[in-house]
Amino acid sequence: MNTAIYSGPVFEMAKQQFAQVADHLDIREMDRDRLLYPKRAMAVSCPIHRDDGRIEVYQGYRVQHHLTLGPTKGGTRFAPSVDIGEIAALAIWMSWKCALAGLPYGGAKGGITVDPYKLSPRELEALSRRHMQEMIPFVGPHTDVMAPDMGTNEQVMAWFMDTYSMYQGQTINEIVTGKPISAGGTLGRREATGRGVAYLVGRALEHLGIRADRATAIVQGFGNVGSVTAYSLAKRGVRIIGVSDHTAAYYDPAGLDVAELQRHVGKHGQLAGVSAESLISASELLVRKCDVLVPAAIERVITSGNASKVKCRILAEGANGPTTPEADAILYQRTDEIFVLPDILCNAGGVIVSYFEWVQDLQRLFWEETEVFDRLYRILERSFQQTIARAKHERISHRMAAMAIGVNVVQAAKRTRGLFP
Ligand code: NAD
Repeated sequence: MNTAIYSGPVFEMAKQQFAQVADHLDIREMDRDRLLYPKRAMAVSCPIHRDDGRIEVYQGYRVQHHLTLGPTKGGTRFAPSVDIGEIAALAIWMSWKCALAGLPYGGAKGGITVDPYKLSPRELEALSRRHMQEMIPFVGPHTDVMAPDMGTNEQVMAWFMDTYSMYQGQTINEIVTGKPISAGGTLGRREATGRGVAYLVGRALEHLGIRADRATAIVQGFGNVGSVTAYSLAKRGVRIIGVSDHTAAYYDPAGLDVAELQRHVGKHGQLAGVSAESLISASELLVRKCDVLVPAAIERVITSGNASKVKCRILAEGANGPTTPEADAILYQRTDEIFVLPDILCNAGGVIVSYFEWVQDLQRLFWEETEVFDRLYRILERSFQQTIARAKHERISHRMAAMAIGVNVVQAAKRTRGLFP
């Protein structure tokens, strides 16, 4: 099979991880390409009028990994780094994540190569609507359901939903998740990923016998996932001693005021400008001593260059793909020192509550917030238990165990269904 269309360092990571799991599971060579390579990939051009009158065309993508368990599900990323290899890797990770959590979805991901922070609100709306318009032939509530990711938010989801609904001539809330409550969203979705990360960190601390009120944490990334994780950990008594975003990194061993940081970002859109005294270099922050290190921004930040220097007890992967396979090998040597909560387990709260949102939209029956979080924590608890039990039993890393569970689910469904999906 000629697979040259998917390339780049992030895709190579997903491919390498899959090869390791496939070897561990002894998957036949002839079954591997079908499990790894996406079912479909779309590339679209999205022209918009800029505020200065120019017409600019942006490149958009959507990758649907497999349709074996139901519709595909996945976020849409607006970032300058977006290419089809990165989107394909994120779609593949979504598949293992959904399967590990027992959700009836395959993985998908989409994105546009654009810096959303450089667009005006009107330009962002035009681009969001145009992207959905181009996607209409390929998505649907029972085909592929979109959600937010880096660089997109509730408002973008509302524009997606509205554009799709205008085309259909009726309101179809269930086409996207992560919408505002006023547009058919669910209670709890905005906080779901970060609260899920904090729940699992809490379980890992218990597992290691560390009291939350004596623990410290450093969080990289202060967007949806990073800021809610920091806030939720602080509410559990954890002292947040470091945070960063793409504009600044801060470190204060006495603890940072997370609510104050959130207020600053709400007002200025970034962490820069909070304080001059606690500034630190972004790379130094990652290797400062702490109990919990949460990468919650971009891929490939824990690498062969810093994996041996990281000084945490728990590495909680809020972001997708923050640890390279080379770094993984180093972390595996440090299993007794560092407890890894791998991305497909650690940040699954987002897609789990997205699933709840889709179910509520389809049924037109909305739940109380307590029901959302009770059900979320039950699923996360089961995935956590399964992952650590399998890792222990087969003497493999937590990442390998979590992926093995996910891949096994997809593999079993493909075996029973045949070649189509
Ligand atoms: P976001 O756009 O809300 O926030 C991203 C944050 O990362 C911003 O604070 C940005 O400044 C920061 N950042 C960007 N580059 C950085 C760098 N080089 N160093 C430090 N910080 C940097 O995005 P998000 O939704 O919070 O997503 C963050 C990560 O979590 C992504 O990997 C995403 O795929 C993953 N994720 C998100 C969700 C969700 O529900 N939003 C769910 C699961 C996983």
